[in-house]
Amino acid sequence: MGEKFIITIDGPGGAGKSTIGKILAKKLDYVYLDTGALYRALAYKALKEKILIDDPASLATLCRHTEVVLKNNRGHLNVYVDGEDVERKIRTEEVGLAASKISTFPVVREKLLDLQRQAGIQGGIIAEGRDMGSVVFPGADYKFYLDASVEERTRRRHQELLQKNSVAEYESIKKDMQARDRQDSQREIAPLKAPEGSVMIDSDHLSIEEVVEKIISTISIK
Ligand code: C5P
Repeated sequence: MGEKFIITIDGPGGAGKSTIGKILAKKLDYVYLDTGALYRALAYKALKEKILIDDPASLATLCRHTEVVLKNNRGHLNVYVDGEDVERKIRTEEVGLAASKISTFPVVREKLLDLQRQAGIQGGIIAEGRDMGSVVFPGADYKFYLDASVEERTRRRHQELLQKNSVAEYESIKKDMQARDRQDSQREIAPLKAPEGSVMIDSDHLSIEEVVEKIISTISIK
């Protein structure tokens, strides 16, 4: 596999995109781009600065005055906001919900579009998010849509939080997950959906290794 493809993985939160994306990037020696982290990074700054996250004018000012940069850290593209590495601060449910909210506004999506495309310009990238195959990389070489039931995604997120010794309650995670699903799939611009030409993978009854295998074999066959 000498060619440097653009491979996209879209799907709802908790479907396993990050886990799978990181493994694939390592196996293929590609870079890994987690685009949710970009929306989370802007949401993190908005919350920190107490900016109204549902007001387009406030968000436009935020976007104008914020520098978002990606830096390659051994194949993982880390997000920096105004020079600060925010990776560890953006993984809370609060930031996730705020990210989902601000990502419905065109000014926010436009701000992050070029940055994402630039990251993929030379190929050799696994890009994951909600609109990778539909908007950001419509000409991607391979597109995947990774899905799982809300119960399974909640169970996984719950386990993940318990392992980090975080406070986690199954029912409240499920409610947040459903709210985010609704917000992400019903918005007008770049809604979450399976992109045209994507390979659908339902990971409910598949292990991480099985999903990785499915993707690798699809890439090898074509
Ligand atoms: O994937 P993650 O949970 O980190 O994404 C956080 C939020 O960012 C999502 O709920 C979604 O609203 C938004 N997002 C998006 N487009 C992407 C990636 C994430 O709108 N490509």
